[in-house]
Amino acid sequence: MCEGFGYTSGWGENMTGNGGQIRVRILSEKGLGAIRLDQKPGSFYVLTLPEGAPEGSGDMFLKGMEDGRNAPPFFLEDPLPEGLGRSEIKAYGKTVLEKCLDEMVPELQKKLGIPHVCYSLDCPGKAFGLCSRDGLIRLNPCLVWMRRDVLREAVLHEMNHLLMQSEDQLFTEHPPAFWENLTMLEPMWPYLEGWMRGRRRAGRKHGICV
Ligand SMILES: [Zn+2]
Repeated sequence: MCEGFGYTSGWGENMTGNGGQIRVRILSEKGLGAIRLDQKPGSFYVLTLPEGAPEGSGDMFLKGMEDGRNAPPFFLEDPLPEGLGRSEIKAYGKTVLEKCLDEMVPELQKKLGIPHVCYSLDCPGKAFGLCSRDGLIRLNPCLVWMRRDVLREAVLHEMNHLLMQSEDQLFTEHPPAFWENLTMLEPMWPYLEGWMRGRRRAGRKHGICV
């Protein structure tokens, strides 16, 4: 499955699906830091998958986390101009991110039939995204270090909150129906969300992500 992680004995494949927990052993350097920065090979981690997550999503999530952590420094598909300093790279990255989102957000909005969506790059704290009833999706600027398909999944996740909204549901809640619907929109979401988490760990090391 992954080089960096392995399941411990006694936790069968049936634990990788719907709402299950997987006890994971950090096998090698490759898995280090993707979960907790201070973890050593041989230590354990319990991953709890949300209820409504599809079968096999535990595998996908861990694979994504490992790939994200070990990906090259930039997700940007365009080659980075040479000779830029750190703050210039950040500013350049933001421009590329906005360019990408200016196309992606209206396209997905139309596809999903959501009446009004706009985005900003000022998501506070550690969340990758937040949204509110008025259709504002606030994204973490850290997403510039992700891949395009990962960015798309982050947008879809927030749009799914807008689709699933009801009077009594907060926008931070993820009931089983939320994940079931997200699976229809993007079946690879466990991999892509895992990738995002692993990538952030790597980004923190480089002072890019919070
Ligand atoms: Zn959410």
